[in-house]
Amino acid sequence: MHDAARDLADHDRMAVGRTLAEAEQLPLWQPTGLDAPEVSPELPCLIAQDVLEPVLRAAAQDAGADVRFGTTLTGFEQHADGLVADLDGTSSRASCLVAADGARSGVREMLAIGRSGRGAVGGPSVNVYFRADLAETVRGREFNLCRIEHPDAPGALASVDGRFRWVFMTGGGHTDRDWPTVRRTALGVPAPDLEVLSVLPWQAEMLVADRYSAGRVHLVGDAAHVMPPFAAMGANTGISDAHELGGKLAAVSGGAAAPALLDSYDAERRPAGWFAADQSARRTLDLGGQGTTDPDLAHPFVLAAGGFQYLDGALCHPVRDVEPVQEFTPAGRVGTRVPHRWLGDARTLSTLDLGGPDWALLVAGDPRPWTTGGLPVHRLDADFLPAGTALLLRPDDIVAWRGTDVTAPARLRDELSRGVPRVG
Ligand SMILES: Cc1cc2nc3c(=O)[nH]c(=O)nc-3n(C[C@H](O)[C@H](O)[C@H](O)COP(=O)(O)OP(=O)(O)OC[C@H]3O[C@@H](n4cnc5c(N)ncnc54)[C@H](O)[C@@H]3O)c2cc1C
Repeated sequence: MHDAARDLADHDRMAVGRTLAEAEQLPLWQPTGLDAPEVSPELPCLIAQDVLEPVLRAAAQDAGADVRFGTTLTGFEQHADGLVADLDGTSSRASCLVAADGARSGVREMLAIGRSGRGAVGGPSVNVYFRADLAETVRGREFNLCRIEHPDAPGALASVDGRFRWVFMTGGGHTDRDWPTVRRTALGVPAPDLEVLSVLPWQAEMLVADRYSAGRVHLVGDAAHVMPPFAAMGANTGISDAHELGGKLAAVSGGAAAPALLDSYDAERRPAGWFAADQSARRTLDLGGQGTTDPDLAHPFVLAAGGFQYLDGALCHPVRDVEPVQEFTPAGRVGTRVPHRWLGDARTLSTLDLGGPDWALLVAGDPRPWTTGGLPVHRLDADFLPAGTALLLRPDDIVAWRGTDVTAPARLRDELSRGVPRVG
């Protein structure tokens, strides 16, 4: 991913100016008052969606996926023992259907699943995707987003490859403006090679499906939730849906878990989708310059580090230790993604590398007293975990249980995999 994203490697800052030619970089944003260890073993990565998707497609094909473009799902029927999908008039049998068919999801409509939420957030917008060689103009002032304040062409300029490809986002619902002229006004340079590639009107919305699953069909991505883009959470939340659902489907189809485990997909990911969509809407309205800061805004790292806490699902509940969202204090609480810590002095294996395909046990102090039932065990001496305490990690890095009962983890792993609600 880092290799594919190398065009934007130095574009981690924001910029602002009357025009692009006059714009200045803003200092790199750093959260204040955060005494956190490193958040991730990986560096952050900015990547354009049309660069990301071929990387994902190649990975899917390497893993055996049959990827077919130009094929439309036109209908499906669910039966007790499976599902029959209609692909351009050809029937195809499957054990389940994952609907990743976008915001206007036809599958969601066929299932008559409604959506709830704030609806439209802010006014209509237009994205102008254009090509122009601006490498010299931005050299030394690289940015991912540059706010343009020119009164005749206000908006934001996003780098797609930082050199030739750009998106200008501006308010208003009219697509029939003289875009090359508006572009050149915003750029403040002649840009003789400027070519408008597409003009896309869009409206930011916050809407979440009322159910994520219906029988053998599961919604992921924009089919399940749409949110304003200003917290950069839309695709990220969809990828988290797919990560979690994929793990559960693999466990069920491989016989390691019971089909009832799939019920936890809705219980876990729907509140997570709502949280991301609601926070994205709050961030957007806050950016609107009302002069006040929404007290319910989550800390940016809580969003960026996948800091949502599951309170229900395939974990021991009720969850008593609730993770705050206005500050970033990951501590291995039940229902949260395990905090990143290096395991061992070599600093090559992170707690986040443990997830999948198996469950794992992280023990503070001597691991010998623990009954593991075949679970891989790792010693973790971390500030947030008192000696004699362990974390039971699911394949998706979520802490399913935390405690001191040395016989509990193996039993709980088996119960939670069977989809048995576990009170602990
Ligand atoms: C301006 C803007 C900026 C954004 N910035 C970010 C960002 O910085 N970070 C981030 O994480 N997200 C961002 N997003 C959100 C991100 O683009 C979406 O969340 C993401 O594209 C959703 O992916 P998806 O696969 O769920 O849906 P889509 O990308 O909409 O893909 C759905 C696909 O399903 C296909 N399809 C539909 N119906 C059928 C059918 N019946 N049969 C076969 N195929 C079908 C469609 O053709 C389409 O290819 C941004 C969005 C916008 C508008």
